Amino acid sequence: MALNSLVTLNDGSKMPQLGFGVWQVSDDGAEAAVKTAIEAGYRSIDTAAIYRNEGGVGRAIKNSDLSRSDLFITTKLWNEDQGYDNAMKAIDSSLKKLGLEQVDLYLVHWPAPQRGLYLETWKAMVEIKKQGIAKSIGVSNFMPEHLTRIIEATGVVPVLNQIELHPKFQQPVLREFHEKHGIKTECWSPLGQGQLLEDSQIKAIAAKHGKTPAQVIIRWHLQNNFIVIPKSVTPSRIKENFDVDSFSLSSDEMSTIAGMDSKEGRIGPNPMTAQF
Ligand code: NAD
Repeated sequence: MALNSLVTLNDGSKMPQLGFGVWQVSDDGAEAAVKTAIEAGYRSIDTAAIYRNEGGVGRAIKNSDLSRSDLFITTKLWNEDQGYDNAMKAIDSSLKKLGLEQVDLYLVHWPAPQRGLYLETWKAMVEIKKQGIAKSIGVSNFMPEHLTRIIEATGVVPVLNQIELHPKFQQPVLREFHEKHGIKTECWSPLGQGQLLEDSQIKAIAAKHGKTPAQVIIRWHLQNNFIVIPKSVTPSRIKENFDVDSFSLSSDEMSTIAGMDSKEGRIGPNPMTAQF
């Protein structure tokens, strides 16, 4: 697998398979972390309006030596901005903060079914893509019933669904749905927010390869053809998480990690019941 290998999305756009996430990073912290990430070789950055660090991400982009077309920038529409008109305003606000004319990928952050607005929001996303202000559009935390509803109503299939996925919570039902509909699976909290790094099975595999637990888990995501966006603010870890190209996991090792899946492994909110 080539470093920074690209995945082709269902609208023909390409995105790096391994990117960099900035949840729970301050605005200034995001500027510094994204600068380090870009220097380490990452070309895809994942932020969101609710992270309140689009400004910092934008400054890091502006100050980098790369041209805009070398970077793949994702941001997300927050739940309070759902609804057609609000969504059109929300992308504008995100673009201003990022200092960009276009994002590569715009995601609906959560279905928030209790608000009853995700279909209207998706219709706005379709318009946002048509106007070219987001090159690609997708969703996050959508369950099969939400995906089915927006696809049936608009005929437009999200390029990806960004969901909680890590060795302890492997989302077999959604993965199968995605496969069937040409939706890429993008994994958030890919390292289980760091909780999986002490797991004895992961540590044993890491020791065998002379790699770190984080590198083994990221490698597992890549070999499963997932898009993956680990986060760190520590320069050495940012580099380490990108340095995953010099080894591969055997099919036995892939199976061992597949066996860690648990129905109780969810760390974050359940999209069906989350109240925000
Ligand atoms: P993660 O699984 O990437 O874990 C990050 C944590 O793991 C770090 O804070 C650090 O404590 C630890 N860590 C990272 N690299 C390490 C290393 N090499 N060695 C030791 N420890 C290390 O968690 P995350 O930040 O929750 O998820 C990644 C990204 O996914 C986020 O930054 C964000 O962009 C995205 N995300 C999206 C949603 C969503 O609802 N769409 C939700 C959560 C996260």
